[in-house]
This record gives sequence, structure tokens and C-alpha cells, in this order.
Amino acid sequence: MNVILDNVTVSYQRHPAVHHVCGEFAAGEATAIFGPNGAGKSTLLKTMIGALEPDSGRVLLNGFKRQQIAYLPQQSEIDRSLPVNVLDLVSTGLWQRTGLFGRVGSAGWRAARAALAMVGLEDFAERPISALSSGQFQRVLFARILVQDARLILLDEPFNAVDARTTYDLLELVRAWREQGRTVIAVLHDYEQVRAFFPQTLLLAREVVAWGPTDKVLCEANLRQAVDKAHHWHEHAAVCHVKAEAA
Ligand code: ADP
Ligand code: MG
Repeated sequence: MNVILDNVTVSYQRHPAVHHVCGEFAAGEATAIFGPNGAGKSTLLKTMIGALEPDSGRVLLNGFKRQQIAYLPQQSEIDRSLPVNVLDLVSTGLWQRTGLFGRVGSAGWRAARAALAMVGLEDFAERPISALSSGQFQRVLFARILVQDARLILLDEPFNAVDARTTYDLLELVRAWREQGRTVIAVLHDYEQVRAFFPQTLLLAREVVAWGPTDKVLCEANLRQAVDKAHHWHEHAAVCHVKAEAA
């Protein structure tokens, strides 16, 4: 099992946000995706779940079924005004098994409550999600992933605007997922978190700057290269020459 990115290029209005990305996420590994703002990190995750279509290249999810994939978008992309309570939201983690209109059933509700207890929110089951702090809301979304029992877990900046205590607790869940052989890929901005919890790192600046063991990838030279590339994005207007020649 693995996830292979085979020369993946993804564009918005013909401007490539990531280009010619090649590499492999091994199953059971935890990989951080690291890179400056606008590096294409979110674009890459969305392409991996099939929400965006690459304009060339392929994403191969070898051995993972669609329903075994959990994806947590950046908090800014989530609508929290929905009139649902915490337990309802956690139970939607079962949809992939029950079907959208299937009944959750007593075993399902038990699983949802158990997941809430694991993230320390057992007393919040009936709260509307709009009444939660961003840390609490992130705990709920992690509980939903627990219920989903996903094998491949994609997290986009999961600890942004999240308090330190929650970050610590949720990182322990990531560690547990790794120990259970799940594959975790997370966009992160904090070196210490990456070094402590993510043995592998993909350093992205629209293209791959480096991909491999975290200690090797996050060296001065690579980080400087990523920042340098980011400084040139505006001047060169992000036109992909390989694609332009082909067109
Ligand atoms: P990151 O997550 O690394 O900050 P993104 O993947 O969000 O980067 O964005 C990469 C580039 O693609 C940026 O230049 C961004 O402005 C552009 N982009 C992202 N989403 C869209 C969109 N929906 N439409 C047009 N351009 C977009
Ligand atoms: Mg992003």
C-alpha cells in the first residue's frame, strides 16, 4: 500500500499551483508537508482526495479505498454555522459505512460517544458546533476521524488557531494512529511538531524541494531554497513552461 504522485501538475485558470510533483507516501508512515504560503500544499491534498483534477500526471492510491480516506480541510474552509450538534457531526464519520441516509444504530452512537471521550469531550455531545472554541471544534473533527476508522488521514494545518493543550492531545492521537499502522499526511508550520511526530517530510514550493527523512529535508539549504522560490512566484507569474510548450 502507498500513495504515489506521478508527475502531478494542478492549475487554477491555467496557472500551475503545483507542478511535476513525483514521489511516494509509504503506508504506515507519518509525513509532514512543509512550505511557504501559496506553495500548493492545500492544492496537493485536495488533488489526492479527488476534489481537484490534475491537468497532467496521476495520483495513485494503491490499496486504499475511497471510504478509508479521511480529509480535514483548513479550518477557514469549514462552515461552522450548520445547526448540528457535536454528536451528530461525529456520527457523520460513519456515513461511508452506513450510506448518507442509513441509520447510525446503537453501535454507531456508542462508537461516536467513545470517540468523543477519547478527545476529552464526552460532556459536549449535545452542544451545537457553533458554540465550540476552535480547539474544541478541532477535537470534534478528530473524533470524527476516529469513528471513520480511516487508513489514510490527510490533515491541512490541523493546529492553526488551536490552543497548546489541544495541540498536544491531538498530536498524541497522531502518534497512536502511526502506531496502529495508519498513514498520516499533515500540512504543518511548526518545526518542533514536525521533528517530534513526523519522520518523513515533503518540502514543497510549488515543486518538490526535498522529500525524505525529516532531519535531512528540513536543513538550512533546503529551507532557503523554498523561500527563494516563493520570492520569485510573482515575477514569473507562475507559468508552467513545460505545459506551455506542450499546449
Ligand atoms: P498553500 O496551501 O501551500 O498555502 P494553496 O494550495 O492554497 O497553497 O495555493 C497555491 C496557489 O494556488 C496560490 O497561489 C493560491 O493563490 C492559488 N489558489 C489556491 N486556490 C485557488 C483557487 N480556488 N482559485 C485560484 N487560485 C487558487
Ligand atoms: Mg493551505
